[in-house]
Amino acid sequence: MQEQCLWTQGAQEPAPVTETLDGALRTRVCVVGGGITGLSTALHLSASGTEVCVLEAGDIPTGGSGRNVGLVNAGLWVPPDDIVKALGEADGERANRVLGGAPAKVFALIERHGIQCHPTRTGTLHLGHNAKGCEELARRRDQLVARGAPVELIEGEACERLTGTRRIRAALCDRRAGTLNPAEYTRGLARAAQTQGAAVHPQPGDGHPA
Ligand SMILES: Cc1cc2nc3c(=O)[nH]c(=O)nc-3n(C[C@H](O)[C@H](O)[C@H](O)COP(=O)(O)OP(=O)(O)OC[C@H]3O[C@@H](n4cnc5c(N)ncnc54)[C@H](O)[C@@H]3O)c2cc1C
Repeated sequence: MQEQCLWTQGAQEPAPVTETLDGALRTRVCVVGGGITGLSTALHLSASGTEVCVLEAGDIPTGGSGRNVGLVNAGLWVPPDDIVKALGEADGERANRVLGGAPAKVFALIERHGIQCHPTRTGTLHLGHNAKGCEELARRRDQLVARGAPVELIEGEACERLTGTRRIRAALCDRRAGTLNPAEYTRGLARAAQTQGAAVHPQPGDGHPA
């Protein structure tokens, strides 16, 4: 048995060319962890002229960034009204706005830096397979539509056509969202950060296999 990640098999975005850090280094900002969070931080800092170095304990990617499902979601699983209830009106609506705009930012970043990560922008479907799930989807649809989001609840034959099954009773289509290959995206972020001047030092072999 061999453990291998499907996302890196036949990947088009090459692994970034990096060197293990050997010795001391002085920098303005040190980012610990070369996943999506750390690499995006490094990319944006270096693009704004800040000297930055990323230290990664394993390879790029090692953590969840290279192994997740690849959904580029517009928001949390938590319905927007519940976010407002938890954070208050101002911060809650700000969180809803920022999260709703996240896919547009991700896809713009991919385009700007030519990241080869097989992005699709055809939307995603959140599926309801029982009455409770469908009620929840309808509730979410109402709250998102009230905020101007391009979402649609699909039922009946149209739902069967899209999902390929009658077991799914309703699907909430969110056209802001999409998918990508997360391992390629993470590699591409590392390359883009390097191009902007960031130093990226992984420690291949010490973390999990890429
Ligand atoms: C099963 C699963 C499916 C998911 N599906 C999706 C999805 O479809 N869409 C989505 O948006 N999100 C999804 N997520 C969530 C997403 O993967 C994470 O939010 C994201 O990867 C977090 O990125 P990160 O950079 O913060 O962490 P990580 O990707 O885990 O990166 C952290 C890095 O820090 C390194 N590190 C840790 N400690 C040190 C140290 N002391 N020194 C140096 N380096 C260190 C690790 O080796 C690692 O590479 C999913 C998560 C899981 C588990």
